Amino acid sequence: MTKKYDVAIIGAGVIGAGIARELSRYELNVAVLEKEPDVGWGTTKANSGIIHAGYDATPGTVKASFSAPGNKKYGEWAEPLSVPFKRIGSFVSTKDSNRIDKLQTLVEQGEENGVEELEIIQDREKIKKLEPNISDEVEAVLHAPTAGVVAPYKLTIALYENARDNGVDFFFDSPVEGIDVDKSPGTSSRFTVKSPHQEYPADYVINAAGIFSGKVASMVGDESVHINPARGEYHLLDHELQGYVTKINFPLPSKDSKGILVTPAAEGSIIFGPNHQPLEEPSVATTKAGLDEVFNGALNLFPGIDTSKIVTNFAGLRAKAQTNDFVIGESDAAAGFINVGGIQSPGLTAAPAIADHVIGILEEKGLSLTEDPAFDPTREPIPKFSEMEPEEIAKYTDDLSAAKEIVCRCEDVTRAEIEEAIDRGAETLDGIKFRTRSRMGSCQGGFCTPRLVEILSEKRGVSPKEVTKKGDGSYLLAEETKEVE
Ligand SMILES: Cc1cc2nc3c(=O)[nH]c(=O)nc-3n(C[C@H](O)[C@H](O)[C@H](O)COP(=O)(O)OP(=O)(O)OC[C@H]3O[C@@H](n4cnc5c(N)ncnc54)[C@H](O)[C@@H]3O)c2cc1C
Repeated sequence: MTKKYDVAIIGAGVIGAGIARELSRYELNVAVLEKEPDVGWGTTKANSGIIHAGYDATPGTVKASFSAPGNKKYGEWAEPLSVPFKRIGSFVSTKDSNRIDKLQTLVEQGEENGVEELEIIQDREKIKKLEPNISDEVEAVLHAPTAGVVAPYKLTIALYENARDNGVDFFFDSPVEGIDVDKSPGTSSRFTVKSPHQEYPADYVINAAGIFSGKVASMVGDESVHINPARGEYHLLDHELQGYVTKINFPLPSKDSKGILVTPAAEGSIIFGPNHQPLEEPSVATTKAGLDEVFNGALNLFPGIDTSKIVTNFAGLRAKAQTNDFVIGESDAAAGFINVGGIQSPGLTAAPAIADHVIGILEEKGLSLTEDPAFDPTREPIPKFSEMEPEEIAKYTDDLSAAKEIVCRCEDVTRAEIEEAIDRGAETLDGIKFRTRSRMGSCQGGFCTPRLVEILSEKRGVSPKEVTKKGDGSYLLAEETKEVE
């Protein structure tokens, strides 16, 4: 019999997974439908990973109302879910003493938005003490100690695992292609959400489909959500440079973006980026011109950084709504259909506050919320076996050989970690990468990929030819070669 859901969420990025996790506190049937084979593969996997302090957004905008509150709530997500998150603080720097007023404007905006501890520093010695390798030409910085860095994909995986363990049903490879709305009074399920394999009756629907949230809104006749993608490109450096940059470093912002930043990521590497390129059609292909812009932007703040340590580049897509603001609220076209679209930056920061707000909307619209006494807010991370003593390893696995076999040498990832990632839901090489960091180091999978294919095919009981990088026909192996005599 078809299961009826109280809430169906479309999209398992940080917004959809975050709302699902917060709803799992209550006695509800919740479904999450995601078109990709895993969580967090939209904008959520390719961004700067900054938990902004909250001074950037213009006061009075929806973005501004969720930024500082989201930042303040981050510990409440990161700690019980065991996600890498560090409040390392941010700098906005200027080399021009005539532009210090721009920093002052950010302080005023920040204070209006509820940001605490903002400070303009003009003492060069103090600046260098806090950020030793920053350009000597920097005249002044805005220091925001509450800003932090998080691993966005690890956070989203943790939200997913915790929501799933607390009873939420996730359906992957399930693109929503249509939604029927029953508007007759007294009907208990107002929506039928349709994917190619299954239909999901639900009382409420949350549209958290990122750059496709306009398309999903139009499925209920709501043509008010228009999303334009804007690409941001990045360079990623090897973790060998860990410690060279200690804070999140921005230049002065422009009209369109916060500028090209240089920051340590939550897990150690340094990233440069993003630029800002409005596009007609979504594309995450990187471009030479764009990457050059990012490279030069980074050197402007850190002229001595060793750029030979760049290991890869990538791009993400901002979901910019026409209003250039978040679109959050019940649709005028269908009662019970809640848009949470246009969540561009600082959406990662705002996510915990957005999740609470959306649950408030659902309650206001009639969803009954009874706390589930069995809810467990905690989730354990995949243990880092390469850092443990054998007795400690034995607590987690009786297969010491799995915990001693280093599969990814760049990031010291053991076979036991890979196997645990697969047990927790990774079905592709990228799924393993985002859970364990294998293939994220300097060789970018050059050495470990064949072993990963072997382990994945053994654990899943499929032929190596069926193993994919990221689902959707991204096979690695074509045919078997002839045996050499
Ligand atoms: C370059 C860049 C840098 C950024 N840096 C920061 C930062 O440092 N700090 C910060 O706070 N924010 C930052 N952001 C913003 C942040 O990344 C986003 O706000 C956030 O990831 C949005 O999450 P989401 O869940 O709304 O979207 P997504 O992560 O895109 O999730 C939407 C999901 O919906 C799925 N989907 C779409 N259509 C369907 C369908 N029909 N059926 C089923 N599933 C569907 C997609 O596959 C996807 O998984 C940045 C964004 C970009 C692009």
